[in-house]
Amino acid sequence: MITSELLDETVNLLSKLIQNRCVNPPGTELVNIKTIGEYLSTKGVEYQIFESAPNRGNLWAKLSGTSDAPSMMFGPSHVDVVPIAKPKAWTVDPFAGEIKDGFVWGRGAMDMLFIVATQTVAFAQLHQEKFQPKGDLILFIVADEEAGGTFGVNWMLEHHPDLLKVDFCVSEMGGAALDEGKVVFMLGEKGGAWKKITFTGTPGHGSMPYASDNAAVKAAKAILRIRKYGDSQIPLTTEYLTYLADGLGMGKLQKFMITTPLLLPMTLKLLNKKDPNTAKIVHSLSRMTMSPNMVSGGVKANVIPAETSIVVDIRTLPGQDDVYVMKHLQKALGDLALKARIEAISEEDGGIASSGNASVPQSNFVSAMQEAVNQEIPGSTLVPFLMPGVTDMRYFRDRGAQCYGFSLLDPKTSTKDMAGLPHGVDERIRIRTVELTLKVYYNLAQIFLK
Ligand SMILES: [Zn+2]
Repeated sequence: MITSELLDETVNLLSKLIQNRCVNPPGTELVNIKTIGEYLSTKGVEYQIFESAPNRGNLWAKLSGTSDAPSMMFGPSHVDVVPIAKPKAWTVDPFAGEIKDGFVWGRGAMDMLFIVATQTVAFAQLHQEKFQPKGDLILFIVADEEAGGTFGVNWMLEHHPDLLKVDFCVSEMGGAALDEGKVVFMLGEKGGAWKKITFTGTPGHGSMPYASDNAAVKAAKAILRIRKYGDSQIPLTTEYLTYLADGLGMGKLQKFMITTPLLLPMTLKLLNKKDPNTAKIVHSLSRMTMSPNMVSGGVKANVIPAETSIVVDIRTLPGQDDVYVMKHLQKALGDLALKARIEAISEEDGGIASSGNASVPQSNFVSAMQEAVNQEIPGSTLVPFLMPGVTDMRYFRDRGAQCYGFSLLDPKTSTKDMAGLPHGVDERIRIRTVELTLKVYYNLAQIFLK
């Protein structure tokens, strides 16, 4: 049972994890990993810590199943956090882990230390209650998610793959109510394929530009073409919008408007007037997006540039591979494609190069998640959603596990809070959210592994 003492322990653990300031880079996550280990020790839970680099590490623990029934993992859940961009904008010390006004405040509170804390405490509580799962229950807490996973998930999969064979995973984050009683869970995520496109020209004097071969002008044309192609010509798919429409219980007309590819451009225009945030979400769920976000080139104001580059943030839907990306990028560029050098920006170079991936929207496991939520908020429905961002769960989906972003936020949390707070200023989490999420993880294990 989840008592109020247990909630206090969870809140205190979360506060401590924030105070340990595992900002990545450099990460130094071992301090958070040890904090979790110490908590587990007080509950008599055995665990292993794997150091992947100096001051960096990962934690693994298991409640062994009584049979070879499907196994489940709390995690992979990461203890690193992103840096503070504007420290002066914060109204609290981002690393004090303050508990006030019904919130726990600080960097990482939402992304994703509250899940780390709730999974740890739920796991320890199940152990204390001598819960005997029919399949294995694994707790897996990692370093280095915010910088691609080299010292976290990737390191563990390379060095200890045998510990990580699992059928189902739950991690960040989901849990927000899109509408009253309509709670999202993340069934997958979009992929990323950042590309650098470079145009060359013939340098000359800027005072006599007539008929010059100017790389910046080519880049400018390319940018306009990419924008136009991405908005109006790229193929549309409404699979993820259909899940959303069904989950939300949309009316027939509304569903028709949003799930009919031919109508979608008009729907987006109308939606953009009423609710621009939702329009952005609907747009991103319906296609591969391409956003030309960086331009660089030229050496001096009076020199016609020999080279200009643009960086395009491309986000793919599950199933859209690099062949698909290049095909459409080249189509967008038209004749300019022949004049361009197109390079991928790898994760080592700070880019994103991952495939979109998704698990099934309905299964016994999803029903168990639904029941876990209903035990706390009766009558609510889970709505499958595709995350626009990239998480560590992609590595487990690649290995055939069904993975879901799963938590339960206080229904008072607004979608505006959700968009602004992770990685943002005054990141914080409601204590009621900590309580609900602690309970749904505890419930889920009891329901699915009983
Ligand atoms: Zn995260």
